[in-house]
Amino acid sequence: MLTRTEGIILKTQKYGEADLIVTCLTPDTGIIKAFAKSSRKTRSRFGSSLEPLTHAGISLWGREQSKMHKITQADIINSFHSLRESYYDFVNISKLAEILISMMPEGIPSRRLFSFFLDILRFMKSSGPQQHREALYLIARIRLLAVIGCAPRLSGCGRCGAKSLDFYPDSGTTLCRRCAGAPDRAGRPFMRIGNRTVRFYAHSIEWPMSLSNRLRPDGRTLSELSGLVDSHLKHLLSGQLRSSGFPEAVSPGNRHAFAGG
Ligand SMILES: [Zn+2]
Repeated sequence: MLTRTEGIILKTQKYGEADLIVTCLTPDTGIIKAFAKSSRKTRSRFGSSLEPLTHAGISLWGREQSKMHKITQADIINSFHSLRESYYDFVNISKLAEILISMMPEGIPSRRLFSFFLDILRFMKSSGPQQHREALYLIARIRLLAVIGCAPRLSGCGRCGAKSLDFYPDSGTTLCRRCAGAPDRAGRPFMRIGNRTVRFYAHSIEWPMSLSNRLRPDGRTLSELSGLVDSHLKHLLSGQLRSSGFPEAVSPGNRHAFAGG
Protein backbone atom coordinates (compact mmCIF):
# COMPACT_ATOMS: atom_id res chain seq x y z
CA MET A 1 0.00 0.00 0.00
CA LEU A 2 1.30 3.45 -0.92
CA THR A 3 0.67 6.25 1.56
CA ARG A 4 1.50 9.91 1.35
CA THR A 5 2.44 11.72 4.53
CA GLU A 6 4.64 14.43 5.97
CA GLY A 7 7.74 13.72 7.96
CA ILE A 8 10.60 15.35 9.82
CA ILE A 9 13.85 13.46 9.29
CA LEU A 10 15.30 12.79 12.74
CA LYS A 11 18.25 10.59 11.84
CA THR A 12 19.80 8.71 8.93
CA GLN A 13 22.07 5.68 8.85
CA LYS A 14 24.06 4.56 5.84
CA TYR A 15 23.11 1.18 4.50
CA GLY A 16 25.05 -0.75 1.88
CA GLU A 17 26.59 1.12 -1.05
CA ALA A 18 24.06 3.83 -1.73
CA ASP A 19 21.07 3.37 0.54
CA LEU A 20 19.85 4.92 3.76
CA ILE A 21 17.76 3.90 6.71
CA VAL A 22 15.81 6.96 7.74
CA THR A 23 14.15 7.57 11.10
CA CYS A 24 11.41 10.14 10.80
CA LEU A 25 8.61 11.65 12.81
CA THR A 26 5.22 11.66 11.11
CA PRO A 27 1.89 12.97 12.37
CA ASP A 28 -0.12 9.82 11.59
CA THR A 29 2.30 7.02 12.38
CA GLY A 30 4.61 8.68 14.89
CA ILE A 31 8.23 7.62 14.66
CA ILE A 32 8.97 5.27 11.79
CA LYS A 33 12.03 3.71 10.24
CA ALA A 34 12.09 3.57 6.49
CA PHE A 35 14.42 2.32 3.82
CA ALA A 36 15.45 4.74 1.05
CA LYS A 37 17.00 2.97 -1.89
CA SER A 38 19.81 4.66 -3.86
CA SER A 39 19.39 7.87 -1.90
CA ARG A 40 23.13 8.34 -1.43
CA LYS A 41 23.99 8.48 -5.10
CA THR A 42 25.85 11.69 -5.93
CA ARG A 43 23.69 14.77 -6.37
CA SER A 44 20.57 12.79 -5.78
CA ARG A 45 17.60 15.07 -5.19
CA PHE A 46 16.00 12.20 -3.36
CA GLY A 47 18.99 12.11 -0.99
CA SER A 48 18.98 15.84 -0.26
CA SER A 49 15.31 15.69 0.66
CA LEU A 50 16.20 13.10 3.33
CA GLU A 51 18.85 15.07 5.20
CA PRO A 52 18.40 15.26 8.98
CA LEU A 53 15.97 17.99 10.16
CA THR A 54 14.31 18.28 6.74
CA HIS A 55 10.54 18.60 6.74
CA ALA A 56 9.36 16.73 3.66
CA GLY A 57 6.32 15.28 1.99
CA ILE A 58 7.05 11.56 1.66
CA SER A 59 5.53 8.58 -0.11
CA LEU A 60 5.75 5.35 1.87
CA TRP A 61 5.37 1.88 0.55
CA GLY A 62 4.58 -1.01 2.87
CA ARG A 63 1.87 -2.61 4.97
CA GLU A 64 0.43 -0.55 7.78
CA GLN A 65 1.87 -2.85 10.47
CA SER A 66 5.17 -3.25 8.66
CA LYS A 67 8.36 -2.85 10.74
CA MET A 68 10.23 -1.23 7.89
CA HIS A 69 8.60 0.99 5.29
CA LYS A 70 10.15 2.02 2.05
CA ILE A 71 10.35 5.66 1.01
CA THR A 72 9.66 5.89 -2.70
CA GLN A 73 9.57 9.67 -3.04
CA ALA A 74 10.37 12.72 -0.93
CA ASP A 75 9.80 16.42 -1.59
CA ILE A 76 11.25 19.15 0.57
CA ILE A 77 8.71 21.37 2.34
CA ASN A 78 11.34 23.12 4.46
CA SER A 79 14.98 22.04 4.43
CA PHE A 80 15.93 23.87 7.66
CA HIS A 81 19.27 24.20 5.97
CA SER A 82 20.52 26.98 8.30
CA LEU A 83 19.95 24.83 11.40
CA ARG A 84 21.80 21.91 9.86
CA GLU A 85 24.71 24.13 8.85
CA SER A 86 25.20 25.54 12.35
CA TYR A 87 27.09 23.08 14.54
CA TYR A 88 25.53 24.48 17.70
CA ASP A 89 21.97 24.20 16.41
CA PHE A 90 22.53 20.82 14.84
CA VAL A 91 23.95 19.32 18.04
CA ASN A 92 21.14 20.72 20.16
CA ILE A 93 18.37 19.62 17.85
CA SER A 94 20.00 16.21 17.51
CA LYS A 95 19.81 15.96 21.29
CA LEU A 96 16.06 16.60 21.09
CA ALA A 97 15.71 14.02 18.32
CA GLU A 98 17.66 11.51 20.39
CA ILE A 99 15.42 12.03 23.43
CA LEU A 100 12.41 11.53 21.19
CA ILE A 101 13.73 8.35 19.56
CA SER A 102 14.77 6.86 22.90
CA MET A 103 11.60 7.69 24.78
CA MET A 104 8.87 7.15 22.20
CA PRO A 105 8.06 3.68 20.86
CA GLU A 106 7.78 3.51 17.08
CA GLY A 107 4.41 3.66 15.38
CA ILE A 108 2.46 5.67 17.96
CA PRO A 109 0.63 8.48 16.16
CA SER A 110 0.95 11.89 17.77
CA ARG A 111 -0.03 15.02 15.91
CA ARG A 112 0.80 17.04 18.99
CA LEU A 113 4.36 15.78 19.07
CA PHE A 114 4.76 16.34 15.34
CA SER A 115 3.55 19.95 15.55
CA PHE A 116 5.66 20.51 18.64
CA PHE A 117 8.83 19.39 16.89
CA LEU A 118 8.05 21.32 13.74
CA ASP A 119 7.34 24.45 15.81
CA ILE A 120 10.73 24.11 17.53
CA LEU A 121 12.49 23.92 14.16
CA ARG A 122 10.60 26.93 12.81
CA PHE A 123 11.13 28.88 16.01
CA MET A 124 14.87 28.20 16.21
CA LYS A 125 15.29 29.01 12.54
CA SER A 126 13.72 32.41 13.01
CA SER A 127 15.02 33.26 16.49
CA GLY A 128 17.60 35.89 17.32
CA PRO A 129 21.10 36.25 18.72
CA GLN A 130 23.36 33.43 19.78
CA GLN A 131 23.51 34.26 23.49
CA HIS A 132 19.90 33.30 24.17
CA ARG A 133 19.97 30.03 22.28
CA GLU A 134 21.33 28.13 25.23
CA ALA A 135 18.25 29.03 27.27
CA LEU A 136 15.93 28.37 24.33
CA TYR A 137 17.29 24.87 23.78
CA LEU A 138 17.02 24.12 27.48
CA ILE A 139 13.39 25.25 27.38
CA ALA A 140 12.84 23.10 24.29
CA ARG A 141 14.26 20.02 26.08
CA ILE A 142 12.05 20.64 29.10
CA ARG A 143 8.96 21.14 26.95
CA LEU A 144 9.67 18.01 24.94
CA LEU A 145 9.92 16.01 28.18
CA ALA A 146 6.62 17.53 29.27
CA VAL A 147 4.92 16.68 25.95
CA ILE A 148 5.99 13.02 26.27
CA GLY A 149 5.04 12.98 29.95
CA CYS A 150 8.52 12.54 31.44
CA ALA A 151 9.38 15.99 32.77
CA PRO A 152 11.04 16.20 36.19
CA ARG A 153 8.85 17.38 39.05
CA LEU A 154 10.11 20.43 40.90
CA SER A 155 6.91 21.68 42.53
CA GLY A 156 7.29 20.26 46.00
CA CYS A 157 7.98 16.77 47.30
CA GLY A 158 6.89 14.12 44.81
CA ARG A 159 5.61 11.89 47.62
CA CYS A 160 3.86 14.17 50.09
CA GLY A 161 3.77 17.58 48.37
CA ALA A 162 5.74 19.36 51.13
CA LYS A 163 8.08 22.19 50.15
CA SER A 164 11.50 21.02 49.04
CA LEU A 165 14.44 22.23 46.98
CA ASP A 166 16.31 18.90 46.98
CA PHE A 167 16.06 17.20 43.60
CA TYR A 168 16.75 13.45 43.45
CA PRO A 169 17.67 12.41 39.90
CA ASP A 170 17.05 8.74 40.69
CA SER A 171 13.41 9.61 41.47
CA GLY A 172 12.87 12.37 38.91
CA THR A 173 11.45 14.66 41.59
CA THR A 174 12.18 16.87 44.54
CA LEU A 175 11.67 15.09 47.85
CA CYS A 176 11.34 16.48 51.37
CA ARG A 177 13.78 15.36 54.07
CA ARG A 178 11.27 13.05 55.68
CA CYS A 179 10.38 11.23 52.44
CA ALA A 180 13.98 11.13 51.26
CA GLY A 181 15.11 9.76 54.61
CA ALA A 182 13.57 6.31 54.16
CA PRO A 183 16.18 3.61 54.96
CA ASP A 184 16.11 2.22 51.40
CA ARG A 185 17.11 5.65 50.10
CA ALA A 186 20.03 6.34 52.39
CA GLY A 187 22.92 8.12 50.71
CA ARG A 188 21.16 8.75 47.39
CA PRO A 189 22.69 11.81 45.71
CA PHE A 190 20.59 14.93 45.37
CA MET A 191 20.97 18.43 44.03
CA ARG A 192 20.05 21.48 46.08
CA ILE A 193 18.35 23.90 43.72
CA GLY A 194 17.45 27.57 44.03
CA ASN A 195 14.02 29.18 44.03
CA ARG A 196 14.90 30.96 40.79
CA THR A 197 15.52 27.63 39.10
CA VAL A 198 12.11 26.38 40.21
CA ARG A 199 10.45 29.56 38.92
CA PHE A 200 12.25 29.51 35.60
CA TYR A 201 11.38 25.84 35.19
CA ALA A 202 7.69 26.51 35.82
CA HIS A 203 7.69 29.34 33.26
CA SER A 204 9.54 27.17 30.72
CA ILE A 205 6.68 24.71 30.79
CA GLU A 206 3.78 27.13 31.11
CA TRP A 207 4.67 29.94 28.73
CA PRO A 208 4.09 29.43 25.01
CA MET A 209 7.33 28.85 23.10
CA SER A 210 6.77 32.10 21.20
CA LEU A 211 7.21 34.04 24.47
CA SER A 212 10.25 32.05 25.61
CA ASN A 213 12.54 34.72 24.22
CA ARG A 214 11.40 36.89 27.11
CA LEU A 215 12.72 34.43 29.67
CA ARG A 216 16.21 35.59 30.52
CA PRO A 217 17.61 33.35 33.24
CA ASP A 218 20.92 34.32 34.85
CA GLY A 219 23.94 32.09 34.22
CA ARG A 220 23.68 30.28 37.51
CA THR A 221 20.01 29.36 37.04
CA LEU A 222 20.73 28.21 33.51
CA SER A 223 23.60 25.97 34.50
CA GLU A 224 21.76 24.60 37.54
CA LEU A 225 18.65 23.68 35.57
CA SER A 226 20.58 22.33 32.64
CA GLY A 227 22.59 20.10 35.02
CA LEU A 228 19.35 18.91 36.57
CA VAL A 229 17.75 18.10 33.22
CA ASP A 230 20.89 16.26 32.08
CA SER A 231 21.00 14.02 35.13
CA HIS A 232 17.25 13.46 34.92
CA LEU A 233 17.73 12.33 31.31
CA LYS A 234 20.65 10.11 32.26
CA HIS A 235 18.45 8.28 34.69
CA LEU A 236 15.54 8.12 32.28
CA LEU A 237 17.63 6.65 29.53
CA SER A 238 19.77 4.56 31.92
CA GLY A 239 22.96 5.78 30.39
CA GLN A 240 24.44 9.02 29.21
CA LEU A 241 22.93 10.66 26.17
CA ARG A 242 25.27 10.08 23.30
CA SER A 243 25.36 13.72 22.22
CA SER A 244 26.38 14.71 25.76
CA GLY A 245 29.80 13.57 24.64
CA PHE A 246 30.08 16.72 22.52
CA PRO A 247 32.29 19.59 23.73
CA GLU A 248 31.37 21.15 27.04
CA ALA A 249 30.35 24.42 25.45
CA VAL A 250 27.31 22.62 24.12
CA SER A 251 26.31 21.12 27.41
CA PRO A 252 27.14 23.49 30.24
CA GLY A 253 25.20 21.28 32.64
CA ASN A 254 28.02 18.75 32.61
CA ARG A 255 29.96 21.09 34.82
CA HIS A 256 27.37 20.94 37.55
CA ALA A 257 28.45 19.09 40.67
CA PHE A 258 26.19 16.92 42.80
CA ALA A 259 25.62 17.80 46.40
CA GLY A 260 26.41 14.85 48.63
CA GLY A 261 23.36 13.15 50.11
ZN1 LIG B 1 7.71 14.35 51.32
